[in-house]
Amino acid sequence: DDDFAVLVERIGETEADALSHAEYVARKLQRTLQQPYVLGGTEGDRHFATLSFGISLFHDGVSSLESLLKQAEVALYRAKQDGRDIVRFFNPEMQAVVDAHARLEARMHEALEANAFRLFFQPQVNRRGVVIGAEALLRWPLDGGAMVSPAEFIPLAEDTGHIVRLGLWVLRSACAQLARWQMNETTRHLKIAVNVSARQFHQPDFVGKVAAAIERHRIRPGGLEIELTESVVIGDIETTVLRMRQIKALGVRFALDDFGTGYSSLSYLKRLPFDQLKIDQMFVRDMEKDTSSEAIVRAILALSRSLDLKVVAEGVETAAQHELLLTRGCELFQGYLFGRPVPIEDWKAG
Ligand code: C2E
Ligand code: MG
Ligand code: MG
Repeated sequence: DDDFAVLVERIGETEADALSHAEYVARKLQRTLQQPYVLGGTEGDRHFATLSFGISLFHDGVSSLESLLKQAEVALYRAKQDGRDIVRFFNPEMQAVVDAHARLEARMHEALEANAFRLFFQPQVNRRGVVIGAEALLRWPLDGGAMVSPAEFIPLAEDTGHIVRLGLWVLRSACAQLARWQMNETTRHLKIAVNVSARQFHQPDFVGKVAAAIERHRIRPGGLEIELTESVVIGDIETTVLRMRQIKALGVRFALDDFGTGYSSLSYLKRLPFDQLKIDQMFVRDMEKDTSSEAIVRAILALSRSLDLKVVAEGVETAAQHELLLTRGCELFQGYLFGRPVPIEDWKAG
């Protein structure tokens, strides 16, 4: 691990005193440890460490060791977020964020137990405007009818590990829906795409879970597509390739989500067995007014042709955007122009 705790005692009579002394100690540690390190004996081989500090002050009335360490950790987390070589003190405002997260986490746990999550489906269409399938998107309805956005709870579900159960529920629900579609003559060709988080994808038994879901619902696996983001891929590319191959061997397809926002390295794109790319909605949105976004969209389309990948444009909201994408050769489309995500009862297309 790369986290260390330092306990400094009797650093001041007043809070102001203690604050300045604590900062002084942190800066001193920082300066000392920032000295270059010569590794391996060669004079030229100098290494530098960056050091972030999170400080939490306490006195006699401290509630518990855990909460103290937790506070220091929160301050450290903030320091790392704010940049390199930064010292941050814990404050109540940070605690408010932590508390809100804790409440959200507790409610997420209850919602999982109560089976309160819902799947919405958003249509994807081809160049002729025919619906070819849907992306399954998670929704968390609250009592009043409002929805917590997945943008808010997915990152937390990843941090807490809830994503494993939640993601499995999504996978199974999508397969159940696919089974219903595949039983009906008019809908049997439709595909369903599910989003899979890094943590879920890298679970040891993920391949087995996918295979079991396919088997249990007796679906033709070609109708199932898994959307991964670049965060899944970066890190351990070998493991990712291997795992993707195992899942592809089941007959499932892969799409790379939010393409263009991350590293989008061509070297990994060539090595990973994706079937499809999804152009991030940011580029689609800015395409008309911003020439660099337009150039990126064109480059992605050219690139995908040479790599034999299909492209879906995400977040298509206007006819003008649609028109421009059509002239650039884009084949598949998703966005409010064609349909918003809806509960399956409201699904009319197909
Ligand atoms: P995403 O996979 O890129 O999904 C597309 C997002 O764009 C969805 O947001 C969708 O509602 C929204 N969208 C679609 N068309 C338009 C449009 O024309 N204009 C605009 N402004 N937005 C549009 P949503 O449903 O809020 O989901 C946000 C993100 O949360 C998703 O981004 C995905 O990364 C994540 N997510 C959603 N469901 C799941 C899930 O089951 N598992 C995991 N791991 N992540 C999920
Ligand atoms: Mg997606
Ligand atoms: Mg996306």
